[in-house]
Amino acid sequence: MNQNNPLLQSFEEAPFSKIKTKHYQPAIKEAIALAKAEIDAITASAEAPTFKNTIEALENSGETLSRATSIFFNLNSAETNDEIQEIAQVVSPWLSEFGNDLTLNEALFKRVKAVYDQRDSLELSVEKHKLLEKHYKSFSRNGANLNNEDKKELRTLDSELSKLSLTFGEHVLAETNNYELLITDESKLDGLPESEKESAAQLAKEKGKEGFIFTLQHPSYIPFMKYVKNRELRKELSIAFGAKAFQDNKYNNEEIVLKIANLRHKRANLLGYKTHAHFVLEERMAKTPEKVNGFLEELLEKAKPAAEKEFKELTAFAQELDGLDHLEKWDSAYYSEKLKQKLFDVDDEQLKPYFQLENVIDGVFTVANKLYDLQFKEVHDVDTYHEEVKTYRVTDVNGEEVALFYADFHPREGKRGGAWMTVYRDQEKKDGKNIRPHISNVCNFSRATAKKPALLTFNEVTTLFHEFGHALHGMLANTKYASLSGASVYWDFVELPSQVLENWCYEPEALALFANHYKTGEIIPKELIEKIKKSANFQEGMQTLRQLSFGMLDMAWHGIDPSTIKNVKEHETQAFENTKLFPDVAENCMSTSFSHIFQGGYSAGYYSYKWAEVLDADAFAYFKEEGIFNKEVATKFKENVLSQGGTEDPMVLYKRFRGKEPNPEALLKRAGLIH
Ligand SMILES: [Zn+2]
Repeated sequence: MNQNNPLLQSFEEAPFSKIKTKHYQPAIKEAIALAKAEIDAITASAEAPTFKNTIEALENSGETLSRATSIFFNLNSAETNDEIQEIAQVVSPWLSEFGNDLTLNEALFKRVKAVYDQRDSLELSVEKHKLLEKHYKSFSRNGANLNNEDKKELRTLDSELSKLSLTFGEHVLAETNNYELLITDESKLDGLPESEKESAAQLAKEKGKEGFIFTLQHPSYIPFMKYVKNRELRKELSIAFGAKAFQDNKYNNEEIVLKIANLRHKRANLLGYKTHAHFVLEERMAKTPEKVNGFLEELLEKAKPAAEKEFKELTAFAQELDGLDHLEKWDSAYYSEKLKQKLFDVDDEQLKPYFQLENVIDGVFTVANKLYDLQFKEVHDVDTYHEEVKTYRVTDVNGEEVALFYADFHPREGKRGGAWMTVYRDQEKKDGKNIRPHISNVCNFSRATAKKPALLTFNEVTTLFHEFGHALHGMLANTKYASLSGASVYWDFVELPSQVLENWCYEPEALALFANHYKTGEIIPKELIEKIKKSANFQEGMQTLRQLSFGMLDMAWHGIDPSTIKNVKEHETQAFENTKLFPDVAENCMSTSFSHIFQGGYSAGYYSYKWAEVLDADAFAYFKEEGIFNKEVATKFKENVLSQGGTEDPMVLYKRFRGKEPNPEALLKRAGLIH
């Protein structure tokens, strides 16, 4: 089988055309066995543990497995089918079992710890030090240092927590799905666009009912709140939305929220951390809850005056338009939309002709060339998984290979929604060679038609730049070890390269390179760019306050000992005290359906949305000061950030690039919150 299975042979570029669906399962099974044998060889060694025979050997183990699984899971996102999905169901448990066995491998941990304990006398390079720490922490943060009794308790806590998170999510889903608002009198839907009415009528029909059905799913809920004139109906739907898993029924999540917060706290204590936030933030750029709280407070202080001013303006606008004496939560989206329409008459159809896909791709390549001297050459000799996938060889100023770049832009059946960057081969230095990475961008942009080329909305343009920014992080990687390479960085640092590149989309000097009208060739007018910028900053103060309120609620659950909290709603009301604009709604609770932090992986991490914005605005301010194509600044960014991956603490890397810690002022200025 091995000889005939392309996934088990060594290859440079992924051999897509040779891989058949039947190859995945046996290849992954065999590759797991291979990886296990490599681990066994490390633990069986009679030699005393050293960096080389333990840490480096561990780092280099499982290479066949990682390449086979990267191809498999990348395709499961970009070009999947029923068969591939079935295989994913089979191999995913194998892989998590393999991962668990690894973190629970006591003989292996003993050797890793032996090296870790000598770390100060080994004279390791910064990168080697980081690699050692990374591998050691992958054990210690999973309880490897605990005695057997505590280990058992940790497993119990983990399994309880994963069940509770699951139940939390099931309750939110059930509450979302169990609700519907049926409207039979069409006149009550005044204001709602025809296309939304059609979807609602279609839904009613599917459920065998007459009229229009609205639900708590975002595609139904959001247009309703934005456009429906009838205030009573907006109130009804809004209260239903905010009451999810906070009602007197079997889907209530109050107990579960309290339990999750307390179990997480207990788990953190067991592992030697003061709170869950301390545990999470140890592996983040922000480092401590104090830093995160200070960060949120500082932004709040600066953004609040702007938010209050916008709130007053919105209130005055609603009074002038409909005689409202005060705003409720269900008025926010409706009057904001009306005000936005009044202030900015810029829409997608006006902008799209300036953003032909091919030109935008050329544009992003030109930007990368001006900043980092990269050359992109489209080639047709690289194997791909679909004929629509384009391939580029990327070289530097000397013609040396930098990376292979795959670009897969259009939606297909079998591709999941959204846009992302992924890797087929990591950059690393091995046996005296600098192995260059294979990077892919996958998006879902509208296709060309018989009459028109593919034209992007402005949002799609910034998405393309965003994902390409991640791709540059991968392509310019220049580290020794694969697990510290490219975008393998702390979670609150990974969006810096992507978000910073979006800034070029708003700069006339950059737009002049590619934003030409597809028919006339005319460059996008300056007034239009100004409008884009202004509308992007619409109600930025209120938006910021909202994001901060979520971040603060998250920290209120995870940055303290939660054992004294008895009432979820009361605790939440307290956490929202300083960010509140609208009157509280007694029937509503955010925590009981805050899936980001109680179901997904964002606990003690919600702040990182704003954190990443502060970083990218601060970094871009440096480019603006010196010129957006200034080579010196670009080189500093490349050498200290893009090429360094996770080899050093991100704050150290950032300061080396910027000369100082990030300052929120640039973000507040860009958002128009301070002048
Ligand atoms: Zn991103």
